[in-house]
Amino acid sequence: MNQFYKNLAIWLIISLVGLLILTQLKKAPEDITLVRYNDFLHMLSEGHLSQTVSIKNNTITWYTSENKKFQTVIPPQNDTVDQLLKAGVNLEVQEEQKPHWFMQTFLSWIPFLLLIIFWFFFMQRGGAGGGGGAGKAMAFGKSRAQLVDTQHPEVTFDDVAGVDEAKEEVSEIVDFLKNPDKFTDAGARIPTGVLLYGEPGTGKTLLAKAIAGEAGVPFYSISGSNFVEMYVGIGASRVRDLFLVGKKNAPCIIFIDEIDAVGRHRSATGGGGNDEREQTLNQLLVEMDGFEANDHVIVIAATNRQDILDPALLRPGRFDRQVLVPLPDVAGREKILRVHGRKIKAGQDIDWATVAKGTPGFSGAQLASVVNEAALLATRCGNPTVSMAILDQAKDKVMMGAERRSMIITEKEKRVTAFHEAGHALVAWMLPGADPVHKVTIIPRGRALGLTMQLPQEEKYSQDRTFLNNNLCTLLGGRLAEEIVFSEVTTGAGNDIERASDIARRMVCEWGMSEVIGTLTFRPADPLHGQPGQIMSEATAQIIDAEVKKLVSAAYDRAKNILLEHRAILDAMAKALLEKETIGRDDIEQLVSEHRR
Ligand code: ADP
Ligand code: ZN
Repeated sequence: MNQFYKNLAIWLIISLVGLLILTQLKKAPEDITLVRYNDFLHMLSEGHLSQTVSIKNNTITWYTSENKKFQTVIPPQNDTVDQLLKAGVNLEVQEEQKPHWFMQTFLSWIPFLLLIIFWFFFMQRGGAGGGGGAGKAMAFGKSRAQLVDTQHPEVTFDDVAGVDEAKEEVSEIVDFLKNPDKFTDAGARIPTGVLLYGEPGTGKTLLAKAIAGEAGVPFYSISGSNFVEMYVGIGASRVRDLFLVGKKNAPCIIFIDEIDAVGRHRSATGGGGNDEREQTLNQLLVEMDGFEANDHVIVIAATNRQDILDPALLRPGRFDRQVLVPLPDVAGREKILRVHGRKIKAGQDIDWATVAKGTPGFSGAQLASVVNEAALLATRCGNPTVSMAILDQAKDKVMMGAERRSMIITEKEKRVTAFHEAGHALVAWMLPGADPVHKVTIIPRGRALGLTMQLPQEEKYSQDRTFLNNNLCTLLGGRLAEEIVFSEVTTGAGNDIERASDIARRMVCEWGMSEVIGTLTFRPADPLHGQPGQIMSEATAQIIDAEVKKLVSAAYDRAKNILLEHRAILDAMAKALLEKETIGRDDIEQLVSEHRR
């Protein structure tokens, strides 16, 4: 609708300007010689003006025999006409040529018209819903189209893979949008609000679009963070606008991404409070409550922090249907890979099931980018199709960041990195309950100087204590190898240590894996989301610290023993890494068997 008025205004302005230019062009000056009045009198007395002379207002025009045009302007109240008559020239009196009355009125109205058009134009943008004056003023110059994104998606359920349960849950909404009267006639109450929740990149936006695409209705989307701006009142007026647009274009879908930006638990903000967010949230609740059964607007919101949402949002009549969009399992990953694989030239050797197995924990978005990266890589190398090897490279890139081969690393640093990674890999290799080592590399990627990649054998949804303890050992293996070989430590293990401490602390405080603490949770404070920590006594805090430390030291000792016992393999692995930069599972297998003999 907005677009229509915008186009209309633009065309009106263009045609007006065109008209103005045309009228100006018509008045283009001719080749006229202007003669002074006394010269004219002289010419008259000399008898030079033999041909017809025309008078129009106070201008006299005549032509010479060479057909040159002359003009003079006569002073008011004089006897020129008499003189002309006396001289016996052919006098032709012309009436003043007025522009057509229509043109004249039109031209004089142009500025006014322009004003009206502009006024209309800005009314359209400034928020039809009225709202605070501030809202209008601030929205000025910032097209609402940027905030509310209108689409008519062509995405269908076929494009969303690996989330069959979620699709099933929302399929009813598609039926409703396609044929709303059937439902309302039957007196059925269709949820107006649907909350999609799940990790980032699992396809929540995609699913919402697919609902609109399947039903063939428009899709209006806005991000929660767009609602919350510096100026109080804007968020609320934007919510009003959004719902107004939605109701006008029903049946349709309104999609609010990152709803947690507005809908965070009200107490979670702690002290000060945030008036703007609260107002926006209240407006959202008011709008959702104001829906009538025949409004035929479905509001879909997405979040990855469902736990921090204000309960008011989830009450009946609001976002009362919650649909989990989970990370895909191995079968789901294969389906997603196939969906995206359709868009590229896939080579004969591609086995999507194997790729799916090698990408545990990947989200749909990450899988999509693996396929896309592979296509890019293939093009860059001049390959006509994407091969399995290229897919593998692309997978590494998405998983660990782009290789930084250009990074300059000293020989010493390289050696330390080689031993560090070999330390991780060796410990992981020797621990039966740990994830198998898939690949070790000392090519810098992202911020890491090297990487040891482990791949679980099967999907895991929970982890046992043995696995976590092994994980601690593996994490500490890097630092330990440095210590053993160089009798010196570097900052390279910072991230490992941080992760190990985090795991150990959670084992004690969240997962009840310490006998001393027992099965009690001690949630730490979460300042980011404004959650205060659980209250505990000083004594408990000390016990927790001691328990965490105990877990880490035990892992440290175990890892150290492994490295000392298999020092020869450690050396051989580091040497292989320095030579080849990347070694795989087969290389390690061979290395280990050689040195065990
Ligand atoms: P979210 O909204 O959950 O963060 P998106 O819907 O924005 O995730 O996903 C981003 C992109 O990742 C999609 O456009 C799509 O290309 C891909 N993608 C994510 N999930 C899936 C899926 N289940 N099936 C197919 N593609 C997916
Ligand atoms: Zn490390």
